Amino acid sequence: MKKCVLTLFLCLSLGSLWAVQPKYVFYFIGDGMGIPLLTATEHYRAHKNGFYGNERLAMFSLPIKGLSTTYCSDSYITDSAAAGTALATGRKTDTGMIGMTPDSTAVYSVAVDAKHAGKAVGVITSVSIDHATPASFYAHRPHRNQYHDIALDGIAAAFDLYGGAGLLKPVVDDVDVYREYEKAGYVRLKGRDGLKKLPSAKSPVVLTERDGASASSLALAIDRTDDDMTLADMVRASIDYLKKRGGDKGFFLMAEGGQIDWACHSNDAATAIEEVIDFDNAIAVAYRFYQKHPDETLIIVTADHETGGFALGNRKMGYTMNIGVLSHIDGSAEAVRQLLADNTSWCEARKILEERWSLGAAVPVSDKEWAELEKMYGKSRSSALDRALLLVSTAAGLGWTSGSHSAAPVIVLAAGDGLEGLGGMVDNVDIPKTLRGIINPR
Ligand SMILES: [Zn+2]
Repeated sequence: MKKCVLTLFLCLSLGSLWAVQPKYVFYFIGDGMGIPLLTATEHYRAHKNGFYGNERLAMFSLPIKGLSTTYCSDSYITDSAAAGTALATGRKTDTGMIGMTPDSTAVYSVAVDAKHAGKAVGVITSVSIDHATPASFYAHRPHRNQYHDIALDGIAAAFDLYGGAGLLKPVVDDVDVYREYEKAGYVRLKGRDGLKKLPSAKSPVVLTERDGASASSLALAIDRTDDDMTLADMVRASIDYLKKRGGDKGFFLMAEGGQIDWACHSNDAATAIEEVIDFDNAIAVAYRFYQKHPDETLIIVTADHETGGFALGNRKMGYTMNIGVLSHIDGSAEAVRQLLADNTSWCEARKILEERWSLGAAVPVSDKEWAELEKMYGKSRSSALDRALLLVSTAAGLGWTSGSHSAAPVIVLAAGDGLEGLGGMVDNVDIPKTLRGIINPR
C-alpha cells in the first residue's frame, strides 16, 4: 500500500513537473495591434476571398483568449517602452523607460529567466533590434532613444539570437556595436542569404536585413518584393536554429510585429491590415510547431497597446462598411510619399493618388475635396497625404480618433499548459508573471 501511494505521488509530481516545464516558448507582440484592427483584417480577408463575413486569423486558433489593460505607471496611454517593459519584466514603469522601474532600477525580463533555465533565447522583430519592444527584453536604459547603449546591452544579456531590420545607431565615438558583438563571439548574418545560414550557425547570431539609414524596418507587407525578408521567414529559421542550440532545454523566442503601430500612427488602414496578416503568418508558423509539440510548447500573442483609436464605422458612412475599398490600395503612405519628388506638380501627384489609392474611383472625391487636396499639397505634402488617407478610411467605413496610441484594452491569446489564467481580463504585467511562474517555478 505504502509503495502504491509512493508511486502515485511520484507519478503526480513528475506529471506536474512535466506540465510546468515547457520546452519551447513563443511570445508574439503586435505593436499597436488593437482589437478592432483584427476584426477589420478578418472582414478584409473574407472580402478578398469573395465572401461576406470573417476569415479567421491563425492567431485565433490559440485556445486561451483574454483581454489585457495596458496603462503604464505615469500614463493611462502607454508608449512601447513602458508597455514593452511591462510585458517583458512584469513591472510597470514610466513612459520611455526600458527594462527599469521609474526609479531607474534595472529589472530583468522573462527571456533572461529562460536563458538562466538553459534555453536558447532569440529576440526578433520586423523593425530595428534596438527599438523599444525588443529592447525591453534585454536592455536597461532610462530613455528608449539611447539606441547605441541599448544595442550594447544585448551583449551583456548574451542571448543567442538578435534579429531584425538592423541597428539605428551602430557607431558612436568609434564604438561599432557590430564589431563589439563580433568580439563577444557573435556571427553577423545579413539578408536572405544570412537567413539561409541561420539554422546551421554554430555561435550566437546577430541577423539583420540591412545596414545604415534604412535599417529601421523590414519592407512593409503592402510594398514588399520577393527579395524582402518577412517576419514569418525569420520565425521559421529561428526555430530551426534555436531548437538545435537549446537542445534538451528548448528555446524562448520573442517575435515583434513592429510596423502595425507605424501604419496606425499614419492612419494608413490598408497598410496596417497587411501588417496584421503578415504578423499572423509568423504566428501560424509557431502554431504549426505547437501542433507537432503540444505538450512541450507555449505560445502567447498580445499587443503592447492599441494605436490610432481605430474604429469600425464612422459618422459619414453610418451603418455602412465598405472594407473592399482597401483592396484598391496599392502602396503604403511611405511608398506614395517616396513617389512624390520635390518638383512633382499637383497634376502629377493627383495622378499618382488616382492610380495608387484609387482616389476619384473606389474612393469617391468631390470637386470640393479635390480643391482642398490641391491647396493642402501646395502647403504641405504630408498633410495632403494624410487627408487622402482619411478619404480612403472614410470610404471604407473606418475611422481613427488619434495619430497616437490609445488606452483601449488589447487581446491576449495563448496555448499551452499553465497559461489558462490569461484567458480572462488581465493586466499586461500578469503575462510575464504567469510565464515566469512556468519557466522558472520557485
Ligand atoms: Zn507607436
